[in-house]
Amino acid sequence: ENTNKIFTAAENQNTNTKTAAQIVNDARIQFNSGKTKCIKFRKQQLKNLLKMFEENEEAIENALALDLGRQKFTASIYDTEFTKCQIKHILKYLNEWSKPEYPPKPIYNYFENIRIQKDPYGVVLVLGPWNFPFALLFTPAIGAIAAGNCVVFKPSEISVASAKVISELVPRYLDNECYYVYDGGVVETTELLQQRFDYIFFTGSTAVGKIVHAAANKYLTPVTLELGGKSPVYLDDTVDIEIAAKRILWGKCFNAGQICVTPDYLLCTKAIQEKFILVAEKVIKEWYTDDVMNSPDFTRIISNKHFERLSTFLINQNNIAVGGKTDACQRFIEPTILINVTSDDPVMREEIFGPILPILVIQNVYDAIDYINSGEKPLALYIFTEDKKTKNLILNNTSCGGVTINDTIMHFVVNTLPFGGVGFSGMGSYHGKDSFDTFTHKKSILEKGSSKQYEKLFYARYPPFSERKRND
Ligand code: NAD
Repeated sequence: ENTNKIFTAAENQNTNTKTAAQIVNDARIQFNSGKTKCIKFRKQQLKNLLKMFEENEEAIENALALDLGRQKFTASIYDTEFTKCQIKHILKYLNEWSKPEYPPKPIYNYFENIRIQKDPYGVVLVLGPWNFPFALLFTPAIGAIAAGNCVVFKPSEISVASAKVISELVPRYLDNECYYVYDGGVVETTELLQQRFDYIFFTGSTAVGKIVHAAANKYLTPVTLELGGKSPVYLDDTVDIEIAAKRILWGKCFNAGQICVTPDYLLCTKAIQEKFILVAEKVIKEWYTDDVMNSPDFTRIISNKHFERLSTFLINQNNIAVGGKTDACQRFIEPTILINVTSDDPVMREEIFGPILPILVIQNVYDAIDYINSGEKPLALYIFTEDKKTKNLILNNTSCGGVTINDTIMHFVVNTLPFGGVGFSGMGSYHGKDSFDTFTHKKSILEKGSSKQYEKLFYARYPPFSERKRND
């Protein structure tokens, strides 16, 4: 049972043995010593992290069960396997990525050596959310470690059990002088944000993203903001409705819709809406039986606050086409489809972040494009169509973080695709090589010979600029 307990500052004094200022100071001393610049050291730390996930599967699964009611299979697939995959991918390519790059030389640099050196930024802060408390804290941190930075991890205080496991495990597996966990909520994050970091990576809401951005501004600290938003689904009648419904509902039911790239709402015509609802009812029953609450495969809502927020979207019973059941004790919300929704309804005015799918009826693809463009740029966009013209119309006339065509969420898990938002859904990107690049400063270097003979080539650039020089 999730105690729903929020860490308080007093409790955190027991968890954090040092202040945020002390941690940053100690980490900087280590960074300046050059310890994390050694590739062998970085690789060893990544291997240790892999070992941490392998040796503590049970503790991690138990924490995810307590925080989100996840069962073993989904805990492992969603949080640990994804993270392990990212570590293995980075380990495989780290030697190659960290080598200097030698870009092509303009002819006038013929006698010079030009190269790009991959420098770590220094001491970086990684702030995590609660929805994938392990994956979304460690996946960015892997990039930071791989690039040679010292890291301060701040797990979300909302996923209480996971935060506890993270603060116990990290010191056991990672170098204690270069990597630190700082526990806590708003007070502690504020304390961290007052420090001078060399990079800040934040995953969370747009509202807090703005606070992080403003704090980073004080020292012109570069940031990556992985935020949220309302990710639309466009569905037309050129696709198989059963397959489309399954793929849309899978995205909506995965972690009970508590995913940044979950399909937020559906845009389709009235005729497609009717068909979609019939299929959706059947699919939900097939997956979770008539009694979703007792299915072991359906995740719970993280906290009472979020349960209450989501419940308010279900007040108008006339709008509920499928589902609608809730249970406050278990923080359970049934997969629910809402119809007769207008763009002014509260459910269309904020990111839902739960298993509720409103359908907004449109006349055609142009309506869909106009609607998408009337809001903030979403983190993800899902296009279900086999029509090439429709696909290109949407792709070329909207802006969003990333797109999956004829499925949901899947672009997120491709190691070789950068993942990130745009506008209010975020800035910067990561995953695979982008994680390494995010935490790497590309230092441009030009190296010249210093012989007297060589110097003669440059006589024209030094004053005085005589008539002869000008004519040369
Ligand atoms: P959140 O913004 O409430 O919290 C994230 C972090 O910010 C936590 O560590 C928290 O301690 C800290 N925080 C909260 N309030 C603060 C304040 N006033 N000052 C300073 N720090 C503060 O986000 P959340 O509820 O944990 O996560 C849900 C949100 O995150 C959704 O909007 C979702 O879309 C987004 N998200 C985005 C991604 C992505 O990759 N783009 C992934 C997961 C979640």
